Parts: sequence; C-alpha cells; structure tokens
Amino acid sequence: MQDMLQAILDQVRPLLSQGQVAQYIPALAEVDPHQLGIAICSLDGQLHCAGDARTPFSIQSISKVFSLVQAISHSGEEIWTRLGYEPSGQAFNSLVQLEVEKGRPRNPFINAGALVICDINQSRYATPALSMRDFVRHLCGNPRIVSDAVVAESEYQHRARNAAMAYLMQAFGNFHNEVDAVLRSYFHHCALSMSCVDVARGFAFLANSGYCPHSGAQILSPRQAQQVNAIMATSGLYDEAGNFAYRVGLPGKSGVGGGIVAVVPGRYSICVWSPALNASGNSLAGMRVLELLSERITGSVFSAVP
Ligand code: GLN
Repeated sequence: MQDMLQAILDQVRPLLSQGQVAQYIPALAEVDPHQLGIAICSLDGQLHCAGDARTPFSIQSISKVFSLVQAISHSGEEIWTRLGYEPSGQAFNSLVQLEVEKGRPRNPFINAGALVICDINQSRYATPALSMRDFVRHLCGNPRIVSDAVVAESEYQHRARNAAMAYLMQAFGNFHNEVDAVLRSYFHHCALSMSCVDVARGFAFLANSGYCPHSGAQILSPRQAQQVNAIMATSGLYDEAGNFAYRVGLPGKSGVGGGIVAVVPGRYSICVWSPALNASGNSLAGMRVLELLSERITGSVFSAVP
C-alpha cells in the first residue's frame, strides 16, 4: 500500500503548478501550493500515509460534514424542515438559487445550507465554536486540534457573500440567531487546522456504520451514517459532484483549503490535500490522486468491491 501511495503522489506531482490557491480568503492565498499529502485510515486500525500527510491545513468546507453530523445527532430528521438534500448544480457560494427557492438551501454542503446548519447548532449550544472543536478532537482522537484565529478573522473581514446569504435567509424567516454570531461560529469551524491524518481518522465513523473506532462511540446510527454518505456523494463537491462521482465514485467532501475527504464504506476513510484548486474550488491534484486511488486500490461504490 505504502509504495502504491508514493507512486500515485509522484505521478500527480506535475499537476501542483496548474491550480490556484484560494484567493478570496487572503490568509489562504499565502499557502505554498507545492504541498501534497494523503492519509488512509483502514477500519482494521491501520494508517497509511504519504507526502505531507501530517502538515496541518485549513479544513474549510470539510467542516460542513462535522456541523451536519452534530445537527443530526441532536435534532435528527427535523433539520430537513429548514433545508434539503438535493444537489445544487451551482457554485458553493452562489446566491442565485437561494432567492428563487425562498431562502431554503438545496443542501447542507453549499455555504447557504451550512449556514442554516450552523444556525441550528447556534440555538442548541452555549458555545458552538468550542462544542465543534471538542467534537472534532473526540472524533480524531487528537486533543491538540485548534482553529486558526488568523484564518477565521480573515474570513470574517471578507464575509460579504456569506453575510448576504444569511440575511437573505433571515428575510425569508429561515434564520433564527443573530447573523454575525452565526458567521463567527461558521468561520471558526472552517478555520480548524487539521492534517490529512486527523481528517482521515475523523471520518472513520462514516466508513464504519456510524461507529468511531478510536473513541468507541456510536456517533450516528448506521442508517444516519449511510444518509450522510449519500449527501456527500451527491453534493459534497458542489457543481463538480457529477465529475467526482464519474472519476472517483466515492462519497466525498472538499474544502477551499485544498483538502478532500472520501469514504469507502466498510473499508477506509481517506484524506488527500493539495492547496491549488480548480475552477470549482476543489483541489486539482487531490481529485487526480483520488481518481488513481479508486482505480488501483479502493474501487468505487458504483463497482463490485475489489
Ligand atoms: N469558508 C469558506 C467560505 O465560506 C468555505 C468554502 C469552501 O471551502 N468551499 O467561503
């Protein structure tokens, strides 16, 4: 496995100069694009790593899965009165559909949907940012995970688009807390700084019917874990979800920090990271790494198990 991972990274390395690091969050624009790492957590407890697997990066929208899982674990099906689970076919930060569909976001992985989920969590927790941080530490078995205050502040300073979405939803009666407070929590989650190893470990429960192998806790029911995986497969990569299903064929979630997490139900959780992005805001090299990985090692959920 180790040699195969190394060979895949070596093959993909020429792509590193082709993408662009996220420019709209100034603190992320400074990240060195020539970094590439992968970690695979297998359910029998083994960890396989290559490249910059232990370098922390900004998880950004990967955090939307953790927020969703928190919301499902305390409010269950009730959350779907506030948003849907259909793919949007639009960019992650698009406002277009939100107006037409009367402030009800298509799914929890576009920004509008993640903001509604944060609003739900804001009503539930006294300190939502700390609750999230502690939840993530627990899932990963790493008590040193922190949110990067510089990144969170940089996002807050450039919050206009996310604020616009939140106020639009408020105008439609689909936002219950103070917009600024929810934005602060949301940016805190996005700014969590984690390595590929952390993220792969943190998603192991989704590959394992909701049961977290490191903490021994049942985080979600098997049915709920399957549903979260389904939403990742259909909406995790925004308007590129179809491309990701075609090329990789796994439930996945990307972030503009360049991380992509993927789940192979019953077998592995995987995190690949490379900061330079394609036009849809997904890691350019990361997509290719996962494509080669699904071809050579993991298979896809759309094929027979290799
Ligand atoms: N924090 C980012 C934003 O709100 C997250 C976007 C992403 O990773 N796709 O724009």
